[in-house]
Amino acid sequence: MIVKPKFKGFICTTAHPAGCEQQVTEQIQYVKEQPKIEGPKRVLVIGSSTGYGLASRIVSAFGAGASTIGVCFERQAAGKRTATAGWYNMAAFEKAAQQEGLYAKTINGDAFSQEIKQQTLDLIKQDWGQVDLVVYSLASPKRVHPVTGEMFSSVIKPAGKPYTNKTVDFHSGKVSEVTIAPATEEEIRHTVAVMGGEDWKMWIDALQEADLLAPGATTIAYSYIGPALTHAVYRDGTIGIAKNDLEATARQLHDQLQELDGRAYISVNKALVTQSSSAIPVVPLYISMLFRIMKEKGLHEGCIEQMQRLFSDRLYAGEVPVDDKGRIRLDDWEMKDEIQEAVTQLWEQVETANIDELSDLVGYRTDFFRLFGFEYDGIDYDKEIDVEVDIPSLASKA
Ligand code: NAD
Repeated sequence: MIVKPKFKGFICTTAHPAGCEQQVTEQIQYVKEQPKIEGPKRVLVIGSSTGYGLASRIVSAFGAGASTIGVCFERQAAGKRTATAGWYNMAAFEKAAQQEGLYAKTINGDAFSQEIKQQTLDLIKQDWGQVDLVVYSLASPKRVHPVTGEMFSSVIKPAGKPYTNKTVDFHSGKVSEVTIAPATEEEIRHTVAVMGGEDWKMWIDALQEADLLAPGATTIAYSYIGPALTHAVYRDGTIGIAKNDLEATARQLHDQLQELDGRAYISVNKALVTQSSSAIPVVPLYISMLFRIMKEKGLHEGCIEQMQRLFSDRLYAGEVPVDDKGRIRLDDWEMKDEIQEAVTQLWEQVETANIDELSDLVGYRTDFFRLFGFEYDGIDYDKEIDVEVDIPSLASKA
């Protein structure tokens, strides 16, 4: 099949297997060029197939030499439909891990369900005995509660009052003003149920009750804060309220894990182009200006550089540096005064006519297409390619 990008709103509905493989290979290459990490040896990554979770899995395996189990929710190819990018990423990751003799298995299904949790617990018990690090990196629009069966849908809205600001359609480069109505109490409750800490705690409780957490085990989940100009739609909005809940869960889990000498952390990461962040209004415009400034100052990072820094300079480098709320800050470069002041200046001036001059929208778009395996040099996108690709550990089970 010849695979080209196809869009439905913000979502790209196709993915290119060779491009996804290249993305994974480049991330692995980057990690191999960095000093080795004295870190965890058995790592479970929940949300392992794209974005920060994928990068966490790559750093664990290729930076620390860890065995990894990845949990994700991806779709394989069927008929004229390609698989999702995350499916191809997991296939490429496992193939590369096998070549290095690294244990890698993937569980594909709804991480919020009891069934997938049980399947993961059984696999850990059977293959490892215990786990040293649990990375929780889910980003999902929906969750079915495993006990009550209630279906929750998250929304990205301000809380309290409407919010108006600039936004960009990153395909056309059109800058416009968007007004978002505030969320209802019910929408806030739903968003907290999907993106808050309840499911993370369910995972850790289940692992701890089954005695599957190794002495000194660590768990980490990811959060975001960002600048004042996105606060209304992010940090003070529905998603930020859910992040407050996730952060409170980290503190609770940190206490709970003391009996194992374990630790639970939140890492506040940098804003990056992922499938999740591209759906948030205002944020893509901010990111494209942020990228321009950070690239100019030589401070730009992608998911893999961020996760490398998390493991090598924070989590596994002696005492873990945290802020006054106990959080690891990997957004330290994004939030530097000189960066934020420069972004604010651009923000005031930006409009459709000068967007290419004032922002790195081109870089944003390239990163977005690359999430789906497109726009890589050296790949002939006019060539037929087999879209049916196996994830080795899933194929061997079938
Ligand atoms: P992403 O969309 O790239 O990845 C989400 C992952 O979750 C994928 O592996 C997907 O398969 C998996 N997933 C979704 N629903 C699932 C389900 N029901 N069962 C199993 N797996 C499921 O997202 P991302 O941007 O890497 O976000 C990961 C975390 O990092 C989130 O907590 C997010 O808030 C946080 N974060 C993101 C940014 C950013 O700018 N992207 C910045 C800071 C923090």
